[in-house]
Amino acid sequence: MTKIRSYKKLVNDIINLQIPFRTEIIGYLKYKEIYPFLSIKRILQTSTKTVVITGGQHGDEIWAIHTLLKWLQQVDLTKFPNLNFAIYPVINPTGYEFGCRDNIKRQDTNNAANFIKNSKVQELALLYEDIPTNINLMLDVHGDSRKKFVYLYEHKSDNLESIAQKTMLENNAWMPYLKQKTLDGYKLKNGVLNTPKEDVGIEGAVEKLSVDYTITLELPGIYDGQKRVEGGINIINSLLYNFLEVK
Ligand SMILES: [Zn+2]
Repeated sequence: MTKIRSYKKLVNDIINLQIPFRTEIIGYLKYKEIYPFLSIKRILQTSTKTVVITGGQHGDEIWAIHTLLKWLQQVDLTKFPNLNFAIYPVINPTGYEFGCRDNIKRQDTNNAANFIKNSKVQELALLYEDIPTNINLMLDVHGDSRKKFVYLYEHKSDNLESIAQKTMLENNAWMPYLKQKTLDGYKLKNGVLNTPKEDVGIEGAVEKLSVDYTITLELPGIYDGQKRVEGGINIINSLLYNFLEVK
C-alpha cells in the first residue's frame, strides 16, 4: 500500500493545537513504522459525568477527524463544567496514512469483538487500557462517503429520552439530516438509526459498561467542506447540550 498522507504531520498538528485539553501519547503502535497513539483529555475531580469521543476509525473518512479537531479548537469548556472528556482523535493511524478503512493489517478497529484486554488489534489493546470505565456518553465521529445528508446511530438506556433525534431536528436547517424512512434495512427516525446492539462497533463493547448513550455521527461525504465542518461542530455541541439537559 502507498502512503497518501502523513500521520506524523497530523500528530504534530494535534500536539500544537491551542486547546483547553491535555494531549498525551498513551502508547505506540508497532508496524513497519512506529505510530504514537493520542489521547486528549480534561479530567476534573469535580466532574460528575464522563464523555468519550473517538474519531478516525476509518481512514477513508478523514473529514470526520478534521471536524473533531476543529471542534476541539472552538469548544468553550466553561459550558461543560461537570463533564470529563477523554478523546481519542485517531483510532486508526495507519488507516489515516494509507487511506484505508481498516488498519494496515486489514484488521477492523471498529469491532466490539476485538475490543478486549491484550487485543491482537494493537489500536484496541491501547484504547482498552486507557478508556475510562465510567462512561456516560460515547460519541464516535465518522463520515459516510455515499451520503449527502447527516445521520446518527443512537443506543441508550431504556429509561432515557433520545438526544440524537432532538439534535438532528435542531440542526436540520444548517445541515439537513437524511430523510429516508429506512437505511440498510433499519428504521430511520428523524435522521437517527437504532440498529440491533449486536450490529455495532466498539461502542457495543462499551455498552456492556453502564453507559447512558452511545452515538455514532455519520457526517456526509458529499457536502461542501467548510459547511460540513461547521455543521459537524454544531451537531457535536448540540449533542453535548442535550446530554447535559438529561436528568
Ligand atoms: Zn466510518
